[in-house]
Amino acid sequence: MDVLKPRVRFAPSPTGQLHVGNARTALYNWLFARRFGGDFLLRIEDTDIERSEARYETQLLDDLRWLGLDWDEGPQAKSESGEGLYGPYRQSQRLDIYREHTDRLLANGSAYRCFCTTEQLDAEREQAVAAHQPQVYSGRCRNVPPQESAARAAGGEAFAVRLNIGVEPIRFHDIVRGAVEFAAEAVSDPVLVRSSGMPVYNYVVTIDDALMRITHVIRGDDHLSNTPKQVAIYRAFGWPVPEFAHLSTILGPDKTRLSKRHGATSIATFREMGILPEALVNYLALLGWGAEGGTRETFTMAELAAEFTLERVTPSPAIFDFNKLYWLNRHYLKLADPKRVAALARPCFTAKGWLPEDTLPNNLEAWFEQLLALFLPSVDHLDQLPEKARFLFDFDPATAMANEENAAVLASETARKVLDEFAMRIAALPAPVTPEAFKSLMNEVKAATGAKGKDLFHPVRIALTGAHSGPEFDKVIPLIEAGSVLLLPTRIASVHERTESFVAAFRQGTTS
Ligand code: GLU
Repeated sequence: MDVLKPRVRFAPSPTGQLHVGNARTALYNWLFARRFGGDFLLRIEDTDIERSEARYETQLLDDLRWLGLDWDEGPQAKSESGEGLYGPYRQSQRLDIYREHTDRLLANGSAYRCFCTTEQLDAEREQAVAAHQPQVYSGRCRNVPPQESAARAAGGEAFAVRLNIGVEPIRFHDIVRGAVEFAAEAVSDPVLVRSSGMPVYNYVVTIDDALMRITHVIRGDDHLSNTPKQVAIYRAFGWPVPEFAHLSTILGPDKTRLSKRHGATSIATFREMGILPEALVNYLALLGWGAEGGTRETFTMAELAAEFTLERVTPSPAIFDFNKLYWLNRHYLKLADPKRVAALARPCFTAKGWLPEDTLPNNLEAWFEQLLALFLPSVDHLDQLPEKARFLFDFDPATAMANEENAAVLASETARKVLDEFAMRIAALPAPVTPEAFKSLMNEVKAATGAKGKDLFHPVRIALTGAHSGPEFDKVIPLIEAGSVLLLPTRIASVHERTESFVAAFRQGTTS
């Protein structure tokens, strides 16, 4: 596509958390700007005073930064000049601009004052419903003579301002959907300014997009039915109409609109779960877009920015596949610097009281990285790690024995013999137990009991880790032994201590 320095914007309303749908909109805008050397603007649409909150705006900026989506213009833009170029970038600070524009439209006859009362409009609507007609404005005030209109307004009569939409169908081009057409009567004369004096979304968004020199409006297709109204507003001002690209809806795995029912959907929640931003960005990029000629699935931000085009965005709904996101997260966790992963994973462990809040001493940090290397391959996201490693910090023989599968393993006569032999031999072994010493000890237990394979290893694994399956002993044993001599908020029981307390509980359980 031949695009001369495009200017695009992300225009969120600070009325809640940033969700995957809006985050994808932000990402596509950002990618498009970076791909074609354009500008990416952030505009805060906070005209809904009751629902807008400063904390949501703060969180929104944090979420965008976390995703790596920096903005050239907007509140707290990356360069200082970006704060002022076409600002202010908060709609609540632009009310004078909107008012001035309304005066222009009233003066040139493209808009008119509508004095209809709520009761009148409700009655009209009811009639239309009863007659199975579309609920459009009758146009009652369209032909109030300008002088009379001005006089009624001056006399204090309340009025809204409506756009005179005309009779021609409204057509525009959508890069994702092609030619789009709406009949004028289906749009009817939209309200631009409410009788409270508050301008409406369609009106302010158009003024801002035009004044901010936006060339491409990329947003969710929930706004598709707003676009004809906006196109009519551009025309009323004589402004060039930008290109539009409406992105398809995101559905859950059951093909209904993605919502909280399906699981996490806010960016903040994914971050708290320990999804890496590069995984989420990669996933969101694929939610409606694919690279030329390929089935390739992993893309860095730079690769996306080099390949993204709107022509390859699909109009069909995208289905949010949590498993694919987790697969990408596992991919990026493998590639990530272990120190970074450790820093990200630590809060999950400090929250449990298992790691200290302060900076970790070197030996503890090294141990924690060793722990992560062992458990990372078995998780989808970082907040699953504590459960995987629970047996290290919170070793509880009673719970281990109560588990049904464990109980089945422990019920056999062989298991009892294996545990007796194991406990006896461990007691005679000096601490710390090395993987080599453990291995030859297990050979001795095997020879003494005749047990092998699962029969030999499962009872011992339950005794040391509380589960009959898990990471290799070669790695678990050193982790337990090294952990047991570290100064941690919760002490890690050593191999000797585990064996002793487990076998004592086991014996008590089998004799009582
Ligand atoms: N504030 C609108 C929203 O959050 C922006 C829509 C648009 O991009 O025009 O849905």
